[in-house]
Amino acid sequence: MKALDELTFDNRFARLGDAFSTHVLPEPLDEPRLVVASKAAMALLDLDPAVAETSVFAELFGGHKLWAEAEPRAMVYSGHQFGGYTPQLGDGRGLLLGEVYNQAGEHWDLHLKGAGMTPYSRMGDGRAVLRSSIREFLASEALHALGIPSSRALCVIGSSTPVWREKQERGAMVLRLAQSHIRFGHFEYFYYTKKPEQQAELAEHVLNLHYPECREQPEPYLAMFREIVERNAEMIAKWQAYGFCHGVMNTDNMSILGITFDFGPFAFLDDFDAHFICNHSDHEGRYSFSNQVPIGQWNLSALAQALTPFISVDALKEALGLYLPFYQAHYLDLMRRRLGLITAEDDDQKLVEGLLKLMQNSGVDYTLFFRRLGDESAELAVKRLRDDFVDLAGFDAWAELYKARVARDGDDSQEQRRERMHAVNPLYILRNYLAQNAIAAAEAGDYSEVRRLHEVLSKPFEEQAGMEQYAQRPPDWGKHLEISCSS
Ligand code: AMP
Ligand code: MG
Repeated sequence: MKALDELTFDNRFARLGDAFSTHVLPEPLDEPRLVVASKAAMALLDLDPAVAETSVFAELFGGHKLWAEAEPRAMVYSGHQFGGYTPQLGDGRGLLLGEVYNQAGEHWDLHLKGAGMTPYSRMGDGRAVLRSSIREFLASEALHALGIPSSRALCVIGSSTPVWREKQERGAMVLRLAQSHIRFGHFEYFYYTKKPEQQAELAEHVLNLHYPECREQPEPYLAMFREIVERNAEMIAKWQAYGFCHGVMNTDNMSILGITFDFGPFAFLDDFDAHFICNHSDHEGRYSFSNQVPIGQWNLSALAQALTPFISVDALKEALGLYLPFYQAHYLDLMRRRLGLITAEDDDQKLVEGLLKLMQNSGVDYTLFFRRLGDESAELAVKRLRDDFVDLAGFDAWAELYKARVARDGDDSQEQRRERMHAVNPLYILRNYLAQNAIAAAEAGDYSEVRRLHEVLSKPFEEQAGMEQYAQRPPDWGKHLEISCSS
């Protein structure tokens, strides 16, 4: 266990130099205070959880203090936003403070979001509000607990600093952890600004640090791209299987590590709805729930274009062709497990699709359906769940197929089925209304609800005593909340 002043820095990205990032100091928040910290994320830095309660912790992550070895930098990148190319983006309000390595030898980027203006702030104020910082914190840690690759969050620091959005709010900072903050948009920036030397340096950096095993391959860059395709396909398969809608899948929000990155107006589905759009400024539904799958491929194509100086177009196309099969395999594997199936049959895809169609028509709660399906034997569970469906004949027909399918998988005990299914079907997810309740309390100065919700979501598969209220369908007011896109 380490104290705060015992972190060991090795700032490899900063060493790439001024073509890649600019030195900027954080701008402190007034009266910084701890809102919430993640013990699990602190463990990634070997930090003693007790240090979160010290005033130095709030000062460090509220922009007042800095380690002597930290080298705060704003990174430059660009990206495709809603399909159109924006030539220059970059860290407009976040700073890469440095890279820390832990006792296991892993490097973690410390990125402070909401740390003030940078050369890339454009019209923005460089700040983040408490509301969006809490949402990012809760989502990153909740996704991780569900087994969905994601950037992590160490803490949220609140303040009395006024920040203007639709109304006056308070500024906050979230300390994000990831093994890299390099986005598809980093590669696009050097490609479109025609800086082949820097682009090659960036590619070498990513290959050496994050995909060293690809060095052994005959074409290392191609092997790396294939790996990026596969990781993104797997991440999106998990989003789809668990009902996570990202909302802003611009290429500047896509990580080269295939982790969920940059949280905005994201949402978990309550009722199953393939057409759900969580981003209210997304009028065409470009980033609707079901569109996330083709958009994942679109984004990888944008990255492929930026990699044409290193890899032949034919090889890139072939690698892109792997996306859908990878996606399908991961998705189907997870959905089979969510249904409690052990073996694989050709018609399983149809079984899943048939169920989702029925859920869509009846507005069935996506999370609770699967959890309840595992509570009992297939026979009893479908009987009980039947009431949630409007199309009873349709559901009965599906239930017959399902029971027969389970029977073909062979006998297993009720306990085994339950254990197996509950291990992949969460009871608790970050429903928008739960986040909203926690935010309202925090805005009034009470952080206990954010902390409790974070605790509950850190063990989503485990039934927790006294936490029944977190495992309910949303109340009417909480069903279709309009989450502000300003953050
Ligand atoms: P996002 O939509 O949060 O992914 O951000 C898109 C771009 O806008 C990135 O370059 C951000 O750094 C920048 N940005 C977002 N909000 C602000 C802000 N309040 N101040 C400065 N830049 C911002
Ligand atoms: Mg972004």
